[in-house]
Amino acid sequence: MTLAWTLTCSACDRTDDPAGLPEVCPLCGAPWLVRYAHPPAPDAKARLATRPWTMWRYREWMPLAADEEPVTLGEGGTPLLPAPRLAAALGLEALWIKDESVNPTGSFKARGLSAAVTRAKGGGARAFTIPTAGNAGVALSAYAQRAGIPVAVFAPTTTPPRILEQMRLFGANVQLLDGHIGDCGKVARQYAAERGAFDVSTLREPYRIEGKKTLGLEVAEQLGWTLPDVCIYPTGGGTGLIGMWIAFAALLEAGWVAGRAPRLFSVQSTGCAPVVRAFESGSARTEPWPDPWTVASGLRVPGPLGGPIVLRAIRETSGGAVAVSDEALSDAAQRMAGAEGIDAAPEGGATLAALELLLERGAVRRDERVVLFNTGAGWLYRS
Ligand SMILES: [Zn+2]
Repeated sequence: MTLAWTLTCSACDRTDDPAGLPEVCPLCGAPWLVRYAHPPAPDAKARLATRPWTMWRYREWMPLAADEEPVTLGEGGTPLLPAPRLAAALGLEALWIKDESVNPTGSFKARGLSAAVTRAKGGGARAFTIPTAGNAGVALSAYAQRAGIPVAVFAPTTTPPRILEQMRLFGANVQLLDGHIGDCGKVARQYAAERGAFDVSTLREPYRIEGKKTLGLEVAEQLGWTLPDVCIYPTGGGTGLIGMWIAFAALLEAGWVAGRAPRLFSVQSTGCAPVVRAFESGSARTEPWPDPWTVASGLRVPGPLGGPIVLRAIRETSGGAVAVSDEALSDAAQRMAGAEGIDAAPEGGATLAALELLLERGAVRRDERVVLFNTGAGWLYRS
């Protein structure tokens, strides 16, 4: 199998071959980024017309060998829904919600884990493990089943019960721990070392970003190969935001779109906002957030490994980072349901609350084209 890409370190000069089961840069411990040997062939765009609407329609942009089939449940191809009532209420000209709740397993995590499990299966993984705040555990459980590989999930005891139920439905060995995802990560790494399981934690393997990248490719295609001005994205571990940053830059470089990359805004909860704090203080890296808590369980990531890359992405695109309270994000999720019929996860609600704050501050203008990302299904969070 010929793999037409290399791995480059996100922090130092190291590059490596992608064979086997790569984890993080062995020199400095930072996440790998994927660099393709060739840009997609010029006829790749025309080929899209004949392909189904899953994220693998962009296979020329993806870490896939020419003759290889992905581990897929039909992820991606989610609707980019105009939100006219919310737009009118806010005085905006153009507002869309990219609704990731309709992915297999009910969240955006399907994209990253379809890509990661595809590569790990190709690399010879015999077992998987993951620490999770919720949705990533459900997605990995389903894709691991699809690949016929066993999985152990480490999750906080505070994970919404229905999300835990979904993991068990997909046959995962679910272990609950007191603490947050960082605590679960330590136990998962120990488990991986002892049992020979492959750890697919956020950014501890290179390919979840590549799956998330398709969010950006899809938004561009759904807007007729144009880019929005502003993307507002809820940030826990940060792979989605990093993936879109890479996607928009690659689309511009390949000439598939014109103009400039959208300004990327990261949204967190005031109960756990390490990216916002680092952004506001001008720091290049996040500091661990003490006693993190938020009802938006996907945002309860106190020390994201990808913090420095998220900060680079929002600064390079002239975006920003804002924190909203649990009350504001829950209220906004209800308004998304009431006004537009979208059952948003609390993290999705956070993007609407953030948009309101950004409009108030003048950081987003009312004549700009704005996309909010609802990353998951609200029903998964209700018991
Ligand atoms: Zn390095």
